[in-house]
Amino acid sequence: MTMEKKRYERPVIQKLNSGLLNKFGSATEIKPLTEIDGVPVKRLVAEYGSPLFVFSERQIREKYAEVHKIFTTRYPKVKFGWSYKTNYLNAICNIFHQQGSWAEVVSGFEYEKALQNGVPGNKIIFNGPDKTAADLQKAMANNSLIHLDHMDEFYLLNELAAAGHKKPRVAIRVNMDTGVYPIWDRFGFNYENGQAWSAINKIMTSGNFTMVGLHCHIGTFMLAPSAYGIAADKLAALFVRIKNKFGHTLEYIDLGGGLPSPNNLKGAYLPGNDLVPPIEEFADTIANSLLNSDIAPNELPLLIMESGRLLIDEAGYLIGTVIANKRLSTGRRATILDFGVNSLFTSFWYNHKISPAQEVSNYKEDVELFGPLCMNIDVVRESVILPPLNTGDRVVAQNVGAYNVTQWMQFITMRPNVVLIDDQGKPHIIRRAESLDTLNQMEEMPAHLKTFKL
Ligand SMILES: *Cc1c(COP(=O)(O)O)cnc(C)c1O
Repeated sequence: MTMEKKRYERPVIQKLNSGLLNKFGSATEIKPLTEIDGVPVKRLVAEYGSPLFVFSERQIREKYAEVHKIFTTRYPKVKFGWSYKTNYLNAICNIFHQQGSWAEVVSGFEYEKALQNGVPGNKIIFNGPDKTAADLQKAMANNSLIHLDHMDEFYLLNELAAAGHKKPRVAIRVNMDTGVYPIWDRFGFNYENGQAWSAINKIMTSGNFTMVGLHCHIGTFMLAPSAYGIAADKLAALFVRIKNKFGHTLEYIDLGGGLPSPNNLKGAYLPGNDLVPPIEEFADTIANSLLNSDIAPNELPLLIMESGRLLIDEAGYLIGTVIANKRLSTGRRATILDFGVNSLFTSFWYNHKISPAQEVSNYKEDVELFGPLCMNIDVVRESVILPPLNTGDRVVAQNVGAYNVTQWMQFITMRPNVVLIDDQGKPHIIRRAESLDTLNQMEEMPAHLKTFKL
């Protein structure tokens, strides 16, 4: 047996942090996370490399069932629409579709993806400000739910509908004051200033549309259940007004997404688990608003929820490897990982929980975690208490399932493998790592640039 050579590190004077106290009491022990759904992190890295995204199918299904139950036990008719932009890997989408989710898309590309995954056209909700004439034609032909975002879209669709002798099924996106600021008023039609009502009147009188619903998406990572109550009140009021004026009953009210996952928001005083209200409170408020409204009981609309991050964040993990350690000029410890903001885009607004993936010492130190990019902003955690990690050690970032595998960027490194661990504990690649070939496939070299002499 050979002894491992001892590494030398220049001594620095540092405040000792063992048995560390913070304002909530003594710091919790740092537990390593050595396996995901029973599969050792070591084995995953050996087979699929590092960094590596890992999703747990069991956790996705369990979370969906839990949240679905919270809503369906409070309101009689509920449907979920899977928010594609939150995570549109086909395998992930299909888990949600198998659970019964419709698709919620915000671009022509996502719309195509939902169709190719086999979602029936009439179960695709088409949101967003950027729908081309071709997108609208397709959505109209497939009887999809087109959520109008602005008047220019209304004029365009009105024209297409008249020319195609087809009545598209539409809803409008409504923005409003829900007591949470700033108001997301760049999408849809405003409630308070009468824009929304005005748009509804144009739709109802044009004769070219079938108005089927009302939609809002009031923000993301919303921490106030009351905001959803106000939104549901306002949409219910519009529902009743449409009924009274036109004798027309809408099919659904869609309250969008924005429900928070238990993540640690940067700058928040409390960790996510203590900050985020129980989902029951959101569901209660929404159900009460709709049930207590003036909508006739026999005309209660379908409630659509477009939750994204709530349903997928906790089921996603990012495994990484320590590249090196160094001391910053201030004496603080810096640890460099093989993933940074390129893979973990959400580290810009979350303090993701990062756990070592092997047994660690009891000694802890405040460290700054950097990614591998040659970019000063490539910081995974500005400050986190961790035991010293050595080159080659693994770490696991948690609650990373939402937005990372859609917002990741290909900057100086390739996007890594993504693995799904199925209900039986078997890993499957659901997206292969990119290679230089992947990138070169898209490039063209003009003939005069093919050769050079140095
Ligand atoms: C992004 C988005 C969602 C999902 O939002 P989450 O905050 O992840 O729940 C739902 N609906 C619309 C219209 C969106 O743009």
